[in-house]
Amino acid sequence: MDFAEQVKSSVDIVKVIEQYVRLKKAGGSPRYTGLCPFHTEKTPSFSVHSTHQFYKCFGCGQSGDLFKFVMEIERISFFEALKLVAERNGIAMPKREYADPEAKLRAALTEMHEIAAGVFQNNLNGPVGAQARQYLASRNVATEQIAEFGLGLSDPSGNQLVRQFESRFTPEQLEHSGLVAKRQESAGFYDYFRGRLMFPIHNESGKVIGFGGRALRPGDEPKYMNSRETALYRKSYVLYNLHRAKDAVRKSDFSVLVEGYMDVIGVYSAGVHNVVASCGTALTNTQVRLLKRHSDRIVVNFDPDTAGANAAEKSIQMLLDEGLRVRVLELGGDLDPDEYVKASGADAYRQRLEKAPVYFHWLADRARQKFDMRTVEGRMDAFKFLAPAIQRISDRLERFAVANDVADYLGVDEKLVRDHFSKGAVEHPAAPRRSQMPATERLLLHSLLASEAARAQVIPELAGMSAVQRFVSRNVFQALFALQSDGAPFRFSDLEGRLSEADRDLLSAAVFADDRLDEKMALRVAMDCLEKFKTLESESEVASLRAQAKAAEKAGDIQEAMRLNALMTQRDELRRRSRSALGGVVH
Ligand SMILES: [Zn+2]
Repeated sequence: MDFAEQVKSSVDIVKVIEQYVRLKKAGGSPRYTGLCPFHTEKTPSFSVHSTHQFYKCFGCGQSGDLFKFVMEIERISFFEALKLVAERNGIAMPKREYADPEAKLRAALTEMHEIAAGVFQNNLNGPVGAQARQYLASRNVATEQIAEFGLGLSDPSGNQLVRQFESRFTPEQLEHSGLVAKRQESAGFYDYFRGRLMFPIHNESGKVIGFGGRALRPGDEPKYMNSRETALYRKSYVLYNLHRAKDAVRKSDFSVLVEGYMDVIGVYSAGVHNVVASCGTALTNTQVRLLKRHSDRIVVNFDPDTAGANAAEKSIQMLLDEGLRVRVLELGGDLDPDEYVKASGADAYRQRLEKAPVYFHWLADRARQKFDMRTVEGRMDAFKFLAPAIQRISDRLERFAVANDVADYLGVDEKLVRDHFSKGAVEHPAAPRRSQMPATERLLLHSLLASEAARAQVIPELAGMSAVQRFVSRNVFQALFALQSDGAPFRFSDLEGRLSEADRDLLSAAVFADDRLDEKMALRVAMDCLEKFKTLESESEVASLRAQAKAAEKAGDIQEAMRLNALMTQRDELRRRSRSALGGVVH
């Protein structure tokens, strides 16, 4: 067994995928379902099979084993995925060099970020960090929080990282690190961040991939500076604190979206752990999808200033587009979340979160401030401002209820509202593609995959039958027969590997069909299906004998006609006997 196989056999794909996607077990079957992380959907068509260690999305078609999943979701190479899964599960990797130059670069960058995070932390804790520590104390950030969030300080003189890196990494790696920059006027590099309070940014698996730096010295612009985009860090794909927050997001079934690093730290430290922030950018749909994998409910809690309200308005549209259920929390008294928690305590904040109103109430208030509500035109404008958000509600009844509610609140004629929304919903949820495989064929394939005994007993006979040639999924069966005759232990991935894409779809359809069979049941079902196909085959043989006999009679060859008729009766008798002895589950 090679190393990849070794990892695969000891790590459960369900456990791996569960770190990224909220999965639900379907009754007693080995099937788990959830919302697909690779496309936008509201009803789950993403399935994971725990017996065959395989996933498939019936919406967008993505499928594969656990490594393929990790590669796709982390956007890394096979080797990196292998390394990641092995590391997370405490399996020692055999030493091997990265073959792929991209992967080699990413590995170097990961190491550089780890080093940088350590250097920054030492600075903050050392003599050079006195002023920064003072600033944190003034913001009520305790020592434990500094440690928990790995806060640090970048070297004010600006060549500390360069000195650390130069002997260990190539100039090319330095250039692509985002941590140091090339000098314009002379050779060499300088540190990209200087004299800033450093917030490490982690990917979902908890590795440092970038930094946010806050200016500490007066006159340092901009106030916040983020890492440049690198092979590790793409800011629109990252949410600050998600790796710490995701368990709490699942547990509470909602996330809290705030604006800044300090808000996250303040709110998280008060015990509200399901909090994240977008990293100094407008929220992107990729970030929203990251969140949605853990819960589709969210409370947006931005700063109360104009910029914050505008950002919230844009974010709400984005969140609704991705199908999230959005509420908005606005804290009174011009306090941002961090300040509020410090002033009023965690319990008060938690209560405010629980009572946060649904987004359209907040939007309606925005509309009332924006437009002149004393005039009919103003009220209509306010309604038009809200209409797109209401239109996005996919449930028709809910949409009408909300529209009426809002019309009432704004003082707009209800009939106008009804007319506006009678055009219908925007949403067309994609139903999982139904397989074109007949039920008995699907059941047979499903049971053969589920039971070793079924394969051993049924395949030798089935393989010789002409009925198989007429199966929709004949290629899948042929591949299964070939594997069986090889004599090696059955592995689902080997079977999959032998199939074209269309045939792989058929295979997944059979695997994920809701036929719940245990080993014993599977054997019985497989035997019954076999009998059914045998009957069908002998019926078609009898029919063909009958046709031949008729033709012989017509041609005047009475002897041949009689021979065929006798053969036909014999076959028919055989068929009847086997059928009455059967009385099976398949009809
Ligand atoms: Zn999908």
